[in-house]
Amino acid sequence: MTEVKAYAATSPTSGLVPSTVERREPGAHDVEIAIEFCGLCHSDVHTIRAEWGQVSYPLVPGHEIVGTVSRVGKAVQGFTVGQVVGVGCMVDSCRECGSCLEGFEQYCEMGNTGTYGAVDRRNGDTITQGGYAKAIVVDENYVLHIPEGMNLAAAAPLLCAGVTTYSPLRYLDVQEGDAVGVIGLGGLGHMGVKIAKGLGATVTVFTTSAAKADAALALGADHVVVSTDAEAMAGAANSLNAILDTVAAVHDLNPYLATLARDGALIQLGLPAEAMPPIQPGLMIGKRLAYGGSLIGGIAETQEMLDFCAEHGIASDIELVAASDLDAAYDRMVAGDVKYRFVLDVSTL
Ligand code: NAP
Ligand code: ZN
Ligand code: ZN
Repeated sequence: MTEVKAYAATSPTSGLVPSTVERREPGAHDVEIAIEFCGLCHSDVHTIRAEWGQVSYPLVPGHEIVGTVSRVGKAVQGFTVGQVVGVGCMVDSCRECGSCLEGFEQYCEMGNTGTYGAVDRRNGDTITQGGYAKAIVVDENYVLHIPEGMNLAAAAPLLCAGVTTYSPLRYLDVQEGDAVGVIGLGGLGHMGVKIAKGLGATVTVFTTSAAKADAALALGADHVVVSTDAEAMAGAANSLNAILDTVAAVHDLNPYLATLARDGALIQLGLPAEAMPPIQPGLMIGKRLAYGGSLIGGIAETQEMLDFCAEHGIASDIELVAASDLDAAYDRMVAGDVKYRFVLDVSTL
């Protein structure tokens, strides 16, 4: 075991405090990573504040991890010491079910092992601990290669926000010329804009923050609709083929469904803690609409997304934060004041 510095929550109201975490000695198939940067996802906030249910404390969050390989187990084939690598939202899965065998490990029928807060299926009693820490040890099958030339801090958010938006856009087979809407311009939303543009789509951003309109256009969006402006919403009616909903709070989907054209689909990515208002069946039936959900992405798909982003010059727009500013960054995230992803500089731990 190696003890490394970390920041952990000790209760739903503790915020993040200096702590340590034990990392196992790398086994035959393990990669040990010296973490350099870790993105701050709204899921980290939902989790440590116990908004999604009970949590085992102390808990080190963080699942947008980028760092350098420091040691490898003797059977490791795909990684060598010194390589720049990433870890996203899961560190294991059953590897045997249909979903795992088809490369959809996130939908593992036995439950994927989350990077933090999950029971480690290797021993059944350790709780996994995430990337707000100096190091992590992960089975090589759940480690990604960061393409050469990428800025490491700006690459970190791709490991969750990037793949969570890439996966549904690919699933919906978004093509050149399709019209894509993105609801919420935060971490996921801004990656959704960039990736949809990378796929050749025309992009409309729906935001509750009128002040973000110029920034949305600068990120590449073609149109911005302030969603509290009923007239602007009416002007977008029947215009979109697909919508990614990245909102972290409860909201009414019906006004957004009205902006879909026939055969359009709205994919839910944001996971508010409370139930959402009901969808009007007439809206769905009248235009043969679909409402779905999507969870992060598989391992192979995450690598595909990283390579796609490298090829298209796509990275996250980040604000680097020191460990001592994590609580303030969380509060700003909850207030919708993030441009557009906070990334922890792990050297400040
Ligand atoms: P974020 O950076 O905080 O962005 C969320 C954005 O939602 C805000 O910036 C804001 O954008 C908008 N928003 C907030 N409150 C709103 C409200 N009351 N009404 C309308 N819009 C509101 O969060 P994130 O890290 O992108 O995560 C977003 C959600 O996705 C979270 O619930 C997170 O847990 C979830 N998530 C899901 C997956 C998955 O696999 N499905 C993966 C990662 C995260 P505007 O200011 O532009 O309105
Ligand atoms: Zn996340
Ligand atoms: Zn499985």
